[in-house]
Amino acid sequence: MAQDTDRNENGEKRDEYEKICSICHRTESQCGGKIIEIPGGLWVCPDCLSNAFRQFGNMNPEALSKMPFMGMGMPPFMDPEEKTPKAQRIKKKSEEPEVKPAFDIKNIPAPHKLKGMLDEYVVGQEKAKKAMSVAVYNHYKRVFAEPSDDGVEIEKSNMLMIGPTGSGKTFLVRTMARLLDVPLAIADATSLTEAGYIGDDIESVLTKLLAAAENDVEKAERGIVFIDEIDKIAKKKNNYSRDVSGESVQQELLKLLEGSIVEVPVGANSKNGMVPMTSMDTSNILFICGGAFPDLIEIIKERLRKKSSMGFGAELKDHYDEDRNILSHVELEDLRKFGMIPEFLGRLPILVTLETLNSDFLVRILKEPKNAILKQYEKLLAMDEVQLVFEDEALRAIADRAMGKDTGARALRAILEEIMLDIMYEVPKDPNIGRVTITREYIEHTGGPRIEMRGALPAATD
Ligand code: ADP
Repeated sequence: MAQDTDRNENGEKRDEYEKICSICHRTESQCGGKIIEIPGGLWVCPDCLSNAFRQFGNMNPEALSKMPFMGMGMPPFMDPEEKTPKAQRIKKKSEEPEVKPAFDIKNIPAPHKLKGMLDEYVVGQEKAKKAMSVAVYNHYKRVFAEPSDDGVEIEKSNMLMIGPTGSGKTFLVRTMARLLDVPLAIADATSLTEAGYIGDDIESVLTKLLAAAENDVEKAERGIVFIDEIDKIAKKKNNYSRDVSGESVQQELLKLLEGSIVEVPVGANSKNGMVPMTSMDTSNILFICGGAFPDLIEIIKERLRKKSSMGFGAELKDHYDEDRNILSHVELEDLRKFGMIPEFLGRLPILVTLETLNSDFLVRILKEPKNAILKQYEKLLAMDEVQLVFEDEALRAIADRAMGKDTGARALRAILEEIMLDIMYEVPKDPNIGRVTITREYIEHTGGPRIEMRGALPAATD
């Protein structure tokens, strides 16, 4: 059978990935010279090769003949395709511009279209969706903009997203990246530490992005990085020891956020001699930082109270205690007080706040999104030709239970899974069941679901 010799067994082009020197772990482009394959199945760059020759020159012939693999050809486990583990293989940069970008300047969806697409999946959070759509649209316009000499440089639209736990920060970013078909990396700021300390190096966020882009550096350089729990790297108050996971991490993140060329370990979270490295330009990567900023509300209220007590009198002061969306009044000054350093905030020019979820909101999340959890259960049971119905009161009871857990919309799935376990187990047992109605009593454990048999249902149900 004729074999396509340009491709390996996975159908990937043989020369699509960078060769990596087996000794110094630099890529061919970093070595600045051609990497050659030597007997023994090793790839060696010109520098290491000339080093090796210098060493061989100093060896006696007997020692040389005892070197492993000398003159034996390639050992059987050293398949040239497998010299670099898959997670560490780096796609070569193409010399010509990408042939088929996911989208280009002409077809980046306009902000209203982006928001419309988000609307299908994300309930409410209108302000956040609008701000994000505009920021993302501008960001990709900037990425694809032709260089010009008019002196006008479009600033990066990195974002800071503030919203309580489970209010949909990660979900919004994830949905946007999926709609745009760009690689996305989600990292946790709490795992990052200053280089040299235990924890992940800052560059590990780019390692993740590279992995999401299947080690295609060019694709990764236009991706999105979401750094969650950013509030956890606030400057620590009264801190007398070295702050390796707070202020110094903010400092180290600056260079990534503003755009620079960074050496990134491939397929590992920290740099060491054994890990291949590649360089990445972060200037076109969209960075979104998110956090719940728990004490921020108090800081905002205090500022607003001070202002109102100067002007309108005391009755306004309490007004802020009831404002569910107090976060939307946030100003940079509040974030600085919280412990974010000014330089860091300066590199996140777009501030997006999310609304705190209430019970009505949770009910909508249960049933409205395109991929709503209720729709998923309905579909599963429809495959057994059973109709699943949730009474409005039952939905309200689920939402109320979720509100008590303080994890926002994240609690919904767990609650629903618990409720539906018995139904999903019992219903397929009886082929006569035609409809199951989930009632408030069932949610509150004071009664069961309403079961109707096929014969008792009207012939054509919609
Ligand atoms: P956060 O990152 O703010 O802590 P998540 O984005 O992880 O919260 O939200 C948890 C889950 O709740 C998401 O996976 C999503 O299914 C659901 N969710 C939250 N907010 C919304 C929303 N506005 N619309 C639809 N689903 C939502």
